[in-house]
Amino acid sequence: MKSRLDIKKIQKDFPQLDVLVNNKRLVYLDNAATTLKPNIVIETLTHYYQHQVANVHRGVHSLSEEGTRRFEETRQTIQNFIHAKFSHEIIYTKGTTDSLNLLASSFGEAFITKGDEIILSQMEHHSNIVPWQILCEKKGAILKVIPVDDQGNLKLDEFKKLLNTKTKMVSIVHTSNTLGTVNPVKEIIQLAHAVGAKVCLDAAQSIAHQTIDVIELDCDFLVFSAHKIYGPNGLGILYGKEELLNAMPPYQGGGAMISEVTFEKTTYNILPNKFEAGTPVIAEVIAFKAALDYVSQIGLEEIALYEHELLEYATSEIKKLKGIRIIGEAKEKSGVLSFVIEGIHPHDLGTLLDKQGIAIRTGHHCTQPLMKRFGIKAAARASFTFYNDKRDVDALITGIEKAREFLL
Ligand code: PLP
Repeated sequence: MKSRLDIKKIQKDFPQLDVLVNNKRLVYLDNAATTLKPNIVIETLTHYYQHQVANVHRGVHSLSEEGTRRFEETRQTIQNFIHAKFSHEIIYTKGTTDSLNLLASSFGEAFITKGDEIILSQMEHHSNIVPWQILCEKKGAILKVIPVDDQGNLKLDEFKKLLNTKTKMVSIVHTSNTLGTVNPVKEIIQLAHAVGAKVCLDAAQSIAHQTIDVIELDCDFLVFSAHKIYGPNGLGILYGKEELLNAMPPYQGGGAMISEVTFEKTTYNILPNKFEAGTPVIAEVIAFKAALDYVSQIGLEEIALYEHELLEYATSEIKKLKGIRIIGEAKEKSGVLSFVIEGIHPHDLGTLLDKQGIAIRTGHHCTQPLMKRFGIKAAARASFTFYNDKRDVDALITGIEKAREFLL
């Protein structure tokens, strides 16, 4: 099936695509790091700061009540977007990293004891490694790692061998930010549940590119960042099943998360407030609804179809270049293309592409253990989304050729 998206029309919604970088048309291929923002998100943010500023949950005055209504409306939009059962299962955080720290700390406090095991994979982002390592050190728990094969697939047979009744948590990336691999998470969740373990999906890279249904997947927790799906910075989501969130202690103390405070004892608020201490990022939450509505209007299935076509085109074009090694060639891939070029350091390539207005990512992509697995220190990464087009891919290829002429 061919995608039917009107890309030219979509591109007009993203004002930053008109910005010149080094006097060249911006070719933005760093979408896995963060996405550009559509006008509707920028306008919603501005509107809040021009007309609507008020704190939420605290005032009886009109602006505070209206702000609270819109703040909670976003929660319902997120609930519908990931198909959760209740809106109070949606916790606002600062980002994926913050969500994972909250989870490791609070879930760890409630459910992890000495000798318990936590399983991650070799392709995790550092933010899905370090919080669990800190927890393991604190509690005397053990970290186990699912290896990755040469194509960039998880070795599921090895995963099955790691699972046992001591496994309490499997925290796994849905789509790898470095390899682009889309992991078979439904199967992983079923296998983990069979031994009584809980599963957290790091959906930072999948949320903008495929439909996610937490009930159908039966995942226990899901985390992502608003800025990776056309929303504002500083906002993340932790989804958790109600009974698990209820059994977990608060992560931070302060205003809004309490029911009653005395110096003798404090009682805590119900979900979701129990996990939302202090004044939140109100404008960002309100504007995030605009981002999700925008994506829903276009349709994630159409988006996925288009991005897949673009990835296939980019992969076939880049393979024609001399000395290219693609890092991550799994069958199920999202719009991420990581590569190294013989004799050229990725940072040099990134710098020369930047001079041509082309923004890609270079470095270890916060996945140092994965870099080690592939025997490299760094890679270049082009990551695509629905406002990119074949012209961007062609610019990348020409840009790489020019860089090669300069460097070799
Ligand atoms: N997990 C994955 C797979 C990511 O790609 C990223 C960011 O690149 C993160 C976690 C961390 O997200 P944030 O920096 O928004 O907290």
